[in-house]
Amino acid sequence: MGLLEGKTALVTGIANKRSIAWGIARAFDREGARLILTYQNDRLKENLDKLVGDLSNAPILVAPLDVSDDGSLTALAERIGDVTDALDVLVHSVAFAKGEDLSGRFLETSREGYHLAQDISAYSLTALVRALYEPLKNAGRASVMAMTYQGSIRVMPNYNVMGVAKAALESSVRYLAFDLGREGIRVNAISAGPIKTLAAAGVKGISSALHSTVERAPIAENITTEDVGNAAVFLASPWSERITGHVLYVDSGFHIMGF
Ligand code: NDP
Repeated sequence: MGLLEGKTALVTGIANKRSIAWGIARAFDREGARLILTYQNDRLKENLDKLVGDLSNAPILVAPLDVSDDGSLTALAERIGDVTDALDVLVHSVAFAKGEDLSGRFLETSREGYHLAQDISAYSLTALVRALYEPLKNAGRASVMAMTYQGSIRVMPNYNVMGVAKAALESSVRYLAFDLGREGIRVNAISAGPIKTLAAAGVKGISSALHSTVERAPIAENITTEDVGNAAVFLASPWSERITGHVLYVDSGFHIMGF
């Protein structure tokens, strides 16, 4: 029997087969979860339609979601309400910043670029949890998780505005964990090491981040979306029942290193 048998899990942020969210969806599927998947636009829906053929169980719902649009969040909650009263697991795997804000000096970040990165990459977690509060509460013991990166606490050249957004995201995880703990809802983050995905390709210097992991991390290997998927299964399962407000590093130990 799978670790997530009988659980309903929403996974956001699948752009293609390289997406971290796809690694998580596959791991959840392997462990017997009933999946709800979202896509941002019609182009991505086509990708998703092809990918879901690889799952052992068809998702119970595939629906559009633009996290920057409150109407879209409300519509998703309604669609979910049509298929289930309870949502056991919610995965936030969404981020966006303007390309021009992901290289050069952080100093040059515009007000508009800053707001955009914060809105889509950080506030969206709170917005999503607010929109899905009822089904999460109904689950009794729900688990929410967000994807973050170590650029939140250390300077990673070029990560810039996204590092600041990830700091806000991790702080939101702690405040939400406090707000929702008594309702049985846990909120955590996974801080993944660098992985070559569509979003990562937008950050100048991803290749040197990958190279640094192999060169400097205690486990001298880059991580995979499967590694993140397995950590997500742990956070979604009863084996992590007393863990909340935590940032779990899945980075081959890179974060413990000084020189
Ligand atoms: P992907 O590009 O595969 O996934 C990012 C997803 O966010 C895409 O599906 C993207 O859609 C979606 N998205 C962007 N804007 C919106 C929006 N307004 N509404 C809904 N969805 C939106 O990259 P990753 O898998 O790398 O990224 C997933 C998460 O993991 C992000 O939070 C990222 O910061 C984090 N992360 C990534 C690391 C890495 O090295 N790859 C390391 C650590 C954390 P679209 O393509 O249409 O923009």
